[in-house]
Amino acid sequence: MSPPRHPLDLQRCDDCGAWWALRPYACAACGGTALRWHRATGEGVVIARSEVHRAPDPQWRALAPYVLVLVQLRENVTLMGHAESGIAIGQEVSGRAAELNGRVLLKFETCHPP
Ligand SMILES: [Zn+2]
Repeated sequence: MSPPRHPLDLQRCDDCGAWWALRPYACAACGGTALRWHRATGEGVVIARSEVHRAPDPQWRALAPYVLVLVQLRENVTLMGHAESGIAIGQEVSGRAAELNGRVLLKFETCHPP
């Protein structure tokens, strides 16, 4: 079992600096295999938003409806995370680790509230 990671810990290529949200065997940008963990800034722009009404399990069902967003990070990686219901596509957000019922998840908040 791998130790729990911060949700903003991503793989970055030592050779070309490209960031990856998944754990590729090699960098798809340059083919390098020197991928290492780095903490991303968590800053980016909301590119998709969806409100979840049917949660996958009872723990999540208690929280429904909740909002999930896809955020294009400054590092050019797309991550999914939770957000406040008022969040909109195109907004600049900042992500942080948040604990919910013992799980660590990624929560995005607006940088410049309206
Ligand atoms: Zn690379």
